[in-house]
Amino acid sequence: MLEIVPLGGLGEFGMNMLALTWGETTIVVDAGVMFPDPELLGVDRIIPDLTYLQHKGRAAALVLTHGHEDHIGGVAHAVPLVDGPVYGTPLTLALVAPKLEEHGIEHTQLVPVRPRERVAVGPFSIEFIRVTHSMPDCVALAIHTPAGVIVHTGDFKIDQTPIDGEHFDVHRFAALGTEGVLALFADSTNIDRRGFTGSELEVVEAFEEIFTSARGKLIVAAFASSIYRMQILVDLAAQFDRKIAFVGRGMMQNSEIALRLGHLRIPAGMQIRDSEIGGYPAQDVLCLSTGSQGEPASALSRIAIDDHRHVKVGEDDTVVISARAIPGNEKAIGRVINHLARRGADVIHEGIKHVHVSGHGSEEELKLMLSLVKPRFFIPVHGEYRQLSQHARVARRVFAGANPPPEILLAENGDVIVFDEAGGRISGKAPVGRILIDDTRTGEVGDEVLRDRRHLAEDGLVVPVVAINKQTGALEGVPDIITRGFVMEDSQALLADGARLLGEVVAQASLEERTDQGLIKEKLRIELRRFFRKRSGRRPFVLPVIMEI
Ligand SMILES: [Zn+2]
Ligand SMILES: [Zn+2]
Repeated sequence: MLEIVPLGGLGEFGMNMLALTWGETTIVVDAGVMFPDPELLGVDRIIPDLTYLQHKGRAAALVLTHGHEDHIGGVAHAVPLVDGPVYGTPLTLALVAPKLEEHGIEHTQLVPVRPRERVAVGPFSIEFIRVTHSMPDCVALAIHTPAGVIVHTGDFKIDQTPIDGEHFDVHRFAALGTEGVLALFADSTNIDRRGFTGSELEVVEAFEEIFTSARGKLIVAAFASSIYRMQILVDLAAQFDRKIAFVGRGMMQNSEIALRLGHLRIPAGMQIRDSEIGGYPAQDVLCLSTGSQGEPASALSRIAIDDHRHVKVGEDDTVVISARAIPGNEKAIGRVINHLARRGADVIHEGIKHVHVSGHGSEEELKLMLSLVKPRFFIPVHGEYRQLSQHARVARRVFAGANPPPEILLAENGDVIVFDEAGGRISGKAPVGRILIDDTRTGEVGDEVLRDRRHLAEDGLVVPVVAINKQTGALEGVPDIITRGFVMEDSQALLADGARLLGEVVAQASLEERTDQGLIKEKLRIELRRFFRKRSGRRPFVLPVIMEI
């Protein structure tokens, strides 16, 4: 009996993870994170609850489809439950390696694979198939099991003009369809979009216009994993005689990895360090920056409030947000744009020019995948419930004339999907949920706290309440700290000191920080967390509340 359990990514966007078990052997596909709203909760990242894996005994392998955070961001947390290699393409593994290092995890066997290769893990034989997406080196999986072949698309679109010449492997999907596929697990992200998504190259036109008309500095914010976008911008910068600087930790790290692996090519002498930007005339510089989601601690947020060490923005400068706003982040992004606009910058985003193209296939691409693979069972994944159910509806249309049509299983996280002689069905529920992760931003290695419910129960909740005058940014009244489940001797004195600290933090913040909820919350959260750790040795959840008066 084959047992497949989605541990994350169904009914939500992010933290994709799937476990497959045959007999004693369990393998895991992807280990992703989900990011909370930037200013919400005292939480940095969210990963799936791994209790199910703990019950299964250690997994025999972790198989990765590609290097996006919603697929690899939780690898360091999953690896302790894996007693075997981590398989992925070279770029995916290169992006994983620093995460393991940060967590002090050694001895994990990272095994690079290439499309059309197969690896055997117990009763499973896992085949890798090239797909196109918004970053290089992505694969889908055909997992050959004793019950039949399971095709897992990973994230994909069908980019007919891939920048690196690596085409979507239509042939292999078609061949698998001919050979017979038991079940297809397919990306549902963009099922709501008509037609085809379009090539990564589509943004070139808009950027050509921007490069042509930009008079000052050009700052482009994108996801650090947008390596194709990086290449497009490098090529344009070369054409328009601009130096390129990567700004923000993620951008620097990923551009280095991409350069090393040959996924990014920069002409000699063109790249400068962020510290050198000041030495060049504004019109000669292109900055590629992190912060496209308005994250308060990111480079773009710092630049926007004139708090970045090397990058200044002003009149004549152009800022491009070259990414989709992840739902929930619109407000934070809006605030960053306000700050930039106040400094006189021209801010261009997806709503103004075609500066972003999605990496996920639209309806027609998803239909093509269904008709190529022709599975006996179809399970939509990677989406909220409405995307999954819409994907099911589309699949019914695709196979309207088929006899018999594929059976559709609309599964949610934790549903135990079994395949045996009697067919396939959802049978029972595995433990699932979310683990909230609270990375310390002080940089010390391994100093990280798992904020699951037990921790919350042990260390409690701390809610600093601060009233700030919306116009002047001045503190109104005395800050207050409300606690739940946080009991200590002397806690009165401790809380009084904490409240005093809040006042100091607000007083020392710049006016822009004080009048920006996202920024001031982040600042208060970091300072108060440090305060409690030092003074009490405890790590309560810190959830700042700002009242604007
Ligand atoms: Zn992806
Ligand atoms: Zn994804």
